[in-house]
Amino acid sequence: MELETKRDIYSHEKGDLLPIVTYPSPVLKKIAKPVKVFDEKIKKLCQDMLYTMYQTPGIGLAAPQVGQSLRIFVLDVDYNRVESLGPSSEKNYKFENLNPLIFINPVIKSKEGQMTYEEGCLSLPGLYEEVNRFEKISVEYQDVEGRNHKMDATELLSVCIQHENDHLEGVVFLERLSFLKRNFLTKKYLKGQKRKKNSSHS
Ligand SMILES: [Zn+2]
Repeated sequence: MELETKRDIYSHEKGDLLPIVTYPSPVLKKIAKPVKVFDEKIKKLCQDMLYTMYQTPGIGLAAPQVGQSLRIFVLDVDYNRVESLGPSSEKNYKFENLNPLIFINPVIKSKEGQMTYEEGCLSLPGLYEEVNRFEKISVEYQDVEGRNHKMDATELLSVCIQHENDHLEGVVFLERLSFLKRNFLTKKYLKGQKRKKNSSHS
């Protein structure tokens, strides 16, 4: 499939919904590989990742979360998804204030300050916990054409970049917690997953 315009890639309406991999799948523990060739395949993956992020919905999605061990993540910390009911009470969604971002081969160059934010993850459904992160970061990355960019980020954008970048290192936010909290939450999460699995078989 040929993607013609930038608008086609940065879209909440076009693309394919990709299945999201959940913890503890092995691909989430792997160190992702750099993107070397910026071809149509990479553009299509970015488009599908953004589409999947908006439809799921989430504010960030890394390639390992859709089973691709590549150094790519997408995010949007600004948008609103407004739900309404159609004539035969089907759900419709309107998207406002879209600000889609794509980061390829990102490298966090500087980090300063500290902040705590309650994080969740599409690969750890139902789990939310406060995580310590750097307050301010600067990140270098490439776009879908392979051009270099640099961005300074604070607050939620900074937290989200750090969370997604961790996925490229095979790290989920559970591993950023204290030993006790991590053990407790991992057990709770795995128990929940087991229950879900069992009930889907019965
Ligand atoms: Zn995540």
